[in-house]
Amino acid sequence: MTLHIPFDNSYAALPDAFYARLDPTPVKTPSMIAWNKALATELGITGQSADVFAGNTVPQGAIPLAQLYAGHQFGSYNPQLGDGRAILLGEVIDQSGQRRDIQLKGSGPTPYSRMGDGRAWLGPVLREYVISEAMHALGIPTTRALAAVGTGQPVLREQGPLPGAVLTRIASSHLRVGTFQIFAHRGQIDELKTLTDYAIARHYPDADGPMGLLAGVCQAQADLVASWMSVGFIHGVMNTDNCTISGETIDYGPCAFMDGYHEGRVFSSIDQTGRYAYGNQPRIAVWNMAQLATALLQLFDDKEAAVEEATTIVHKMPEQLQTAWLHRFGAKIGLTNPTAQDQPLIEELLTLMQNDGADFTNTFAALGTDNARDQFTDRDAFDAWDQKRHSRTDPTAIEIMAKANPKIIPRNHRIEAMIDAAVNGDMAPFERLTKALGTPYAITDDALHKPPTQSEIVPATFCGT
Ligand code: AMP
Ligand code: MG
Repeated sequence: MTLHIPFDNSYAALPDAFYARLDPTPVKTPSMIAWNKALATELGITGQSADVFAGNTVPQGAIPLAQLYAGHQFGSYNPQLGDGRAILLGEVIDQSGQRRDIQLKGSGPTPYSRMGDGRAWLGPVLREYVISEAMHALGIPTTRALAAVGTGQPVLREQGPLPGAVLTRIASSHLRVGTFQIFAHRGQIDELKTLTDYAIARHYPDADGPMGLLAGVCQAQADLVASWMSVGFIHGVMNTDNCTISGETIDYGPCAFMDGYHEGRVFSSIDQTGRYAYGNQPRIAVWNMAQLATALLQLFDDKEAAVEEATTIVHKMPEQLQTAWLHRFGAKIGLTNPTAQDQPLIEELLTLMQNDGADFTNTFAALGTDNARDQFTDRDAFDAWDQKRHSRTDPTAIEIMAKANPKIIPRNHRIEAMIDAAVNGDMAPFERLTKALGTPYAITDDALHKPPTQSEIVPATFCGT
């Protein structure tokens, strides 16, 4: 069946300053590697086409463009980033009436490519496909993966030549903190105003002006980061260009889910100082919102009053994070209405887990069963804790925990093995992983919920995407 995408584009109608218009660069031999049929249906897309999702054919109604943005990378401001290897084809209105972006990632160089080749290799494309879809199944806001296609062209990375691929990414938008930063830093106030109005209309229609937008994004990011924490997710590159206005998780580069619990866990090989370590993520989210606030201040004549208002909004975020965290982790130990008094109980368990390197996912998944104590070397300490949990909860605790504690997460060693197989033409592990991760609160594939053995551990993720 020929492909039909019901485009309804709005970003392309914004002024030229927002993007560069260009088509994706065609590739040698497009081949469909993975296709998310359920998502296609949700988007009102019929048919399928490797040519379109490789960038060789521009579909009817698309207005391809690369978006401009800037951002703080590891704390330093980079005045110009932009889509260096991505092309927004356009937008559709999905079945629930929500506007969604359709973007090709790895689709060739753009005016914003800097030193990069504009391409992606199969490994990171499948990594993003599997992990973003797993996040969605976990109920965490995220960009989605519609398609992965092979290009038939090798991509040169540190490891040598690797098979090229293009990911089709779906997002409720690709607006980032960095999209606001670029216009604010350049003093392009008209563009900043246009962008603010656009973001409010698209994501926060009830927001009252820039400060309302800021408050909305702060709440969305607080909820998002608390949900990451609750599944042991470490984003790895929480730069302001990877921080969405919508509150969706974006940019699955060196991210990973941790096995053994440790607050200071880092996977990314380029995060030498642990800036984006597991336990630092709430602080970084606040820092990122302070950058958004700084950008938005440019819209106000009365700077003093605006600074005061923005500061109040950003300073509320630690409390919002705390509330969201308590709600999530309270449910993980079986509490319906956790209060601040329950916090020590949760923290005590995390301390026991950290001391023993207990598996984050499996420990929570086993709470209330006889298997829980097996996760610990100091079983007496766990038993004493579990006694307290038991006396604090009621009989509904088991059901609450079952809904809050996934049985399966995309473990790093499984992701790496899936990529190795795919590079050798074997897509079976990919199919198996995506299937099991689609129902993360049930055990459908026994082997996949096991943590890595000592020799299977993949301790780091690399940025050679
Ligand atoms: P990321 O670390 O993926 O968020 O990317 C940061 C910036 O680098 C963005 O502007 C990307 O578009 C750009 N970039 C990353 N990889 C490439 C590549 N292979 N070619 C061109 N630009 C790239
Ligand atoms: Mg990025």
